[in-house]
Amino acid sequence: MKQWLMEILACPAENCGNKLNLDVFTSHVVKTNTEEVKEIDEALIVCPKCGRWYPVIEGIACMLPDHLRMSGKQRVEETKFLQRWKDKLDSSILNEGKPFGLTSTS
Ligand SMILES: [Zn+2]
Repeated sequence: MKQWLMEILACPAENCGNKLNLDVFTSHVVKTNTEEVKEIDEALIVCPKCGRWYPVIEGIACMLPDHLRMSGKQRVEETKFLQRWKDKLDSSILNEGKPFGLTSTS
């Protein structure tokens, strides 16, 4: 995803819609004939209002409502994301992140 996308993204949680913070872990620069564009590969998006986190996995911002993240393939992928970057993530996200963390059992 491109860095400027963050300026138009808003938290998808119900009754939130706040602006989001971005913490980039990996990125690369794509050169075209006229410009260089920074493409974000993996990053953490955090909503400062409701406290939810969202992953950017392989260039795609996964900004889904809670109920779509809590089970199935999405939960597996997002749990792998937390494991992959656990050294860089705040313990509050790892332990009690919204909608889930690494140690959550629900
Ligand atoms: Zn929010």
